[in-house]
Amino acid sequence: IAMYHSKSLGPGRTTMFEVTMHERVLNRSRLETELRQALSRGGLSVQYQPIVDVQSGTLRGFEALARWVHPVRGFVSPGEFISVAEEAGLVVDLDRFVLFEACDCLRAWREQVPQARDCFLSVNVSTTQFSRADFVHAVQGVLRDTGLCPADVRLEITESLLMQRAPVVQRNLEGLRELGVQLYIDDFGTGYSSLGYLQQFAPSVLKIDRSFVQRVPMHSESAELVRTILSMARNLNIAVVAEGVECQEQWTWLREAGCTYAQGFFFAKPLVPEDALDVLRQNQPLPGTPKEASGMKV
Ligand code: C2E
Ligand code: MG
Ligand code: MG
Ligand code: MG
Repeated sequence: IAMYHSKSLGPGRTTMFEVTMHERVLNRSRLETELRQALSRGGLSVQYQPIVDVQSGTLRGFEALARWVHPVRGFVSPGEFISVAEEAGLVVDLDRFVLFEACDCLRAWREQVPQARDCFLSVNVSTTQFSRADFVHAVQGVLRDTGLCPADVRLEITESLLMQRAPVVQRNLEGLRELGVQLYIDDFGTGYSSLGYLQQFAPSVLKIDRSFVQRVPMHSESAELVRTILSMARNLNIAVVAEGVECQEQWTWLREAGCTYAQGFFFAKPLVPEDALDVLRQNQPLPGTPKEASGMKV
């Protein structure tokens, strides 16, 4: 389409468009090569964002998030490199790296601070990864190698994955249930899906997408939507994480609306492992949490 339009603009323009497109493709394939290298040479890392109890603001677990600091470009956002990884067939390796790294990190924390005993990890799984016949086996392998229990790890999947009828996906869902690994539905509310699957698969947790959370309490339709999700989840006995909580007003509103967990910059950004360990060690409500809510003396 770009070529078609460009020709109509005259010969000079054609070249410009071709160069731009060419560059974009080159850029992409360069990024792909560099991501492949980063994966095999230890250039990727994992950060941990606290998930807190809404009522008290105390830590319950962490979401593990992949990080890539490129030697020249600097920080590349997952929004960019996850899609490169998907297209290049690297996302399975990437997800496995993050799962292992996160589990190994929790194992190390548990040797250092007792609070880490009660803390869980929540790890993102791409649809490609979840569609592999050896997925449950791979998860078991990581648990065995790091000495964690199935209850220590929760896997974040998308609504669209649950809508897939592929037998391998169904088998993996069943296999994880048998193993005792809880499933979280990530970005809940963004996936135009039927709600029937909630009954069928009984996920442990819904993570309400931050696009809704960020508009409460001011935007009344978003507030109504979040309330509806909360009451539906309550009736189905499913817990809820509100994603992307950035300010006190959102937090107070969620607390009053009866949300279970929250995650967002208001409490903490994704942290490097040492800082996450500090949060565990301090064992205090997270920054941002008003003192009256946490029951602390002001
Ligand atoms: P996600 O799983 O929904 O993760 C939450 C994202 O929201 C993270 O972005 C986090 O940094 C960001 N976030 C958390 N709190 C706030 C807030 O208060 N305000 C704002 N504006 N943002 C907040 P991040 O790390 O850039 O990751 C983006 C997405 O990339 C993730 O969305 C997830 O879908 C994907 N991703 C990240 N790591 C992995 C991974 O290891 N494997 C796979 N398959 N996907 C990953
Ligand atoms: Mg997630
Ligand atoms: Mg999410
Ligand atoms: Mg999200």
